[in-house]
Amino acid sequence: MGKKTGFMDYSRVGHKERPIEERVHDFNEFNISLPTVERARQGGRCMDCGVPFCQSGIVFYGKRMGCPLHNLIPEWNDMIYEGNREHALSRLLKTAPFPEFTGRVCPALCEVGCNCKDVGGSVTIRDNELYIIEYAFQNGMMEPRPPKKRSDKHVAVVGSGPAGLAAAYWLNKRGHNVEVYERDHKPGGLLMYGIPNMKLDKSVVARRISLMEAEGIVFHCGVNVGKDITVEQLAQQFDCVILCCGAQKPREVRFEGEAKGVYYALDYLKPVVQQQVREIASAPTAKDKHVIVIGNGNTASDCVATAVRQGCQSVTQIIRKPESAYGPEVDYAHAETEFLFGKDIRVFESNVKKVIADDNGDLTAVELSVAGEVQTIPADMLLIASGFSGTEDQNTAMFKADTTGKVLQAGDMKNGATLVVLALADGAEAAAKADEMLMGYTSLKR
Ligand SMILES: Cc1cc2nc3c(=O)[nH]c(=O)nc-3n(C[C@H](O)[C@H](O)[C@H](O)COP(=O)(O)OP(=O)(O)OC[C@H]3O[C@@H](n4cnc5c(N)ncnc54)[C@H](O)[C@@H]3O)c2cc1C
Ligand code: SF4
Repeated sequence: MGKKTGFMDYSRVGHKERPIEERVHDFNEFNISLPTVERARQGGRCMDCGVPFCQSGIVFYGKRMGCPLHNLIPEWNDMIYEGNREHALSRLLKTAPFPEFTGRVCPALCEVGCNCKDVGGSVTIRDNELYIIEYAFQNGMMEPRPPKKRSDKHVAVVGSGPAGLAAAYWLNKRGHNVEVYERDHKPGGLLMYGIPNMKLDKSVVARRISLMEAEGIVFHCGVNVGKDITVEQLAQQFDCVILCCGAQKPREVRFEGEAKGVYYALDYLKPVVQQQVREIASAPTAKDKHVIVIGNGNTASDCVATAVRQGCQSVTQIIRKPESAYGPEVDYAHAETEFLFGKDIRVFESNVKKVIADDNGDLTAVELSVAGEVQTIPADMLLIASGFSGTEDQNTAMFKADTTGKVLQAGDMKNGATLVVLALADGAEAAAKADEMLMGYTSLKR
């Protein structure tokens, strides 16, 4: 612990955000980090309290708390306060493969468990994590670190979302030869093609992939495993195959009618990113449209915030549960819409009954049920963000068909749609399992 009275001397100061009136006009990241002096004070608030729930990664009375990666949080908080950033980085990288992702998009389960929560607010653990890794990247401390020795074992990882990247990262650190197969043009999974740029700039994903390549991991993009190559073929060529294919199959929502302008969330968000990174020329746009978003959660918020940045005329969010099911916290998308439209865009206890189209088949309105009452509101675009039901059938089939015993699965494909940090933890777990299969024991942390 750097400063014995830090938690009493300093108040919690979180990262700053770009002003709403500015940020809604572009897709640039909106979080701004604190200056180094203030960040050191924030590190000094950590009391290394001796009961560090922040590191526990447990489910406690039904509530998930503590870092699922068991990051060594009190240690690097202390190092931030002391100004020893090299040591902070080395302790962070012991457990966290990609702090630049979690430091941006993790819901900070660690902060839920922080004992300072009731004494001036939790330590700003996620922001501190991001500070360490970004300082390291900006100051030449993130040079490629390939393994000193290579084994003669070869592992194929299918899917390059956080679970696949984490499995590849740890197995490569262990010295195995790792090749990643990805059906999209670029690696990253939902880090690349789901979470929008304003939360996670795509150059941050590309920077990490370049580093992994320099450390010896081979990426094969544009390969749909199950179509372009079978799992059986991979199992013949490799000593182990880890399927990390995500859970991107959308959960269906039933309503009457059909219309052009209705999209599942990822069929909207993904092309928007693809257009931004110049993979495709055009993407669906909400410009000047009345937009309806079905669902509540990260994906729905990202749809709202994307529609806002494209210049929608209005946006309404249809939420099945009553308002009492949610806490008072307001996420970034709702802060933005409250500012722009002067009201809460969420309609609780509601669902879409019917979509209404004009003679060309274009959406013009939706019929809603709101607390049992029927209402019709104008709509030009309907985005369905009501969750994901699992991985695609093709991926389930290829996992089930394996008879070699060499095929593992990890991440959202195994556990259903979750969080980046949980996918990273599960990728690490799969890497340890694979290592044990290959070597008879493992030195990778479980
Ligand atoms: C819009 C959106 C916003 C989100 N925001 C957050 C957030 O703010 N914070 C947070 O913690 N979590 C967030 N999540 C959840 C998080 O992104 C996921 O839990 C996480 O990405 C899952 O990682 P994964 O590696 O298991 O799967 P994915 O990231 O889905 O990656 C799976 C990869 O496998 C590839 N693939 C699938 N099948 C094949 C095949 N047959 N052959 C080759 N490749 C294949 C896919 O193309 C994809 O690249 C968000 C999710 C969405 C959709
Ligand atoms: S990965 Fe998430 S839970 Fe773990 S220390 Fe970072 S912000 Fe906290």
